Amino acid sequence: MAEIKMPLEPFRIKVVEPIRPVTRREREALLKQAGYNVFSIPADKVYIDLLTDSGTTAMSDDQWAGLMTGDESYAGARNYFHLEKSVQSIFGFTHVIPTHQGRAAERVLFGSVLKKGDIVPNNIHFDTTRANVEFLGARAENLVLPEAYDPVSDRPFKGDMDPDKLKKCVESKGAKRIPLVLMTVTNNSGGGQPVSLRNIKEVSGVCAHYGIPLFFDACRYAENAYFIKKREKGHDKKTVLEIAQEMFSYADGATMSGKKDALVNIGGFVTLDDDGLAEKIKNLLIISEGFPTYGGLAGRDLEAMARGLNEALDETYLEHRTAQVAYLGGLLDQAGVPVFKPFGGHAIYILADRFLPHIPRGKYPGWALTVSLYREYGIRAVEIGGVMFGSKAGQGNKEIYPELEMVRLAIPRRVYTASHLQYVAEAIIELHKNRDKVRGLRIVRESPFLRHFTARLEEV
Ligand SMILES: *Cc1c(COP(=O)(O)O)cnc(C)c1O
Repeated sequence: MAEIKMPLEPFRIKVVEPIRPVTRREREALLKQAGYNVFSIPADKVYIDLLTDSGTTAMSDDQWAGLMTGDESYAGARNYFHLEKSVQSIFGFTHVIPTHQGRAAERVLFGSVLKKGDIVPNNIHFDTTRANVEFLGARAENLVLPEAYDPVSDRPFKGDMDPDKLKKCVESKGAKRIPLVLMTVTNNSGGGQPVSLRNIKEVSGVCAHYGIPLFFDACRYAENAYFIKKREKGHDKKTVLEIAQEMFSYADGATMSGKKDALVNIGGFVTLDDDGLAEKIKNLLIISEGFPTYGGLAGRDLEAMARGLNEALDETYLEHRTAQVAYLGGLLDQAGVPVFKPFGGHAIYILADRFLPHIPRGKYPGWALTVSLYREYGIRAVEIGGVMFGSKAGQGNKEIYPELEMVRLAIPRRVYTASHLQYVAEAIIELHKNRDKVRGLRIVRESPFLRHFTARLEEV
């Protein structure tokens, strides 16, 4: 095929959904109403929506066809057995327990194993994972390598967990206080960075030594497996499926949000081998999600997920997806916009504190950037910084900020074309030139958990 500089879409478009620009004046008014929180902006007032890659996927014609084969029986729908087969063929665990999305999978798993005062190590906890751990009175520990917080180190697997930190954590807290270790692939809150197979083996070894089960937060397992194929020595001849199977072979189970690498708009599951634990999880599931063969989903949703899990392993799809993300990152990087490197799997992360050096952490530079991106260009992105992960502690309720202050431009799967991404790059480059005009904010109202979803702010 002819060479072009843009990532070539490996699909053609069969159904279209119009998007319409909204005037700057209207956007200004909407921001005021929304308490300067882009989560509260109606989606049809957004031009390019990079809020999340979660549940925003365009399904394939095969998945849409699958919806028509939905079996809406209460118990034992045929689509459940299809999902079970798909999950088992990739993940390799015996029990497959569907849930309505990833955080529900976390809740039924943690609800079955965690007690007050327990510790849950992870490379970096995603926000809902941390919230589900803390809600049960347990503590969430992030044990990545120091390079994970260095946005310019070119280490290819910045999602790796530090095995020494894990050992120290277990030695000091005692294995009894650690009912499970989690590993997030790819590491969403740390820049969408992959975890190497070598690190998975090592961490699995530490867990086995202390008799602690290892679970994956497997949302982006296919992207992680693809990076192993491309970046880790000795794996380039394997298929992505074989690499994924190998990854899971070192674990005891996984939670999954189907809204990522199962290419669906809703769905998730827990999968594991332990019969006793599976039974506990199913009991919790019945009182909150539903009967264990549907777990809060319609039969048609189960079918779309069963098909999507396999599509996500298609290497032409994965090549385009990673190329699309790298294309956007490359355009920004070449223009001097500070971005997290190397580029991860599902998003580009802008280093907001470097983008807006005149705004101190206490005035939330990342949040300020999301407000400006929407006001000036109709682009919606998400802050992953002080508002999302800041916590109050110690004397005078002083706020403690996370290591990195970032804005994530998440790329929905199979939704936007190269020209959409070019628009986004040009907008951000222009905003970067006018960055002095961007103002910081203060929080006027917030909730105790996951405050970024509902907080109201004002510009200062
Ligand atoms: C999205 C996500 C979750 C939660 O899944 P939902 O489907 O949004 O509930 C958990 N962990 C990671 C790493 C995620 O990206």
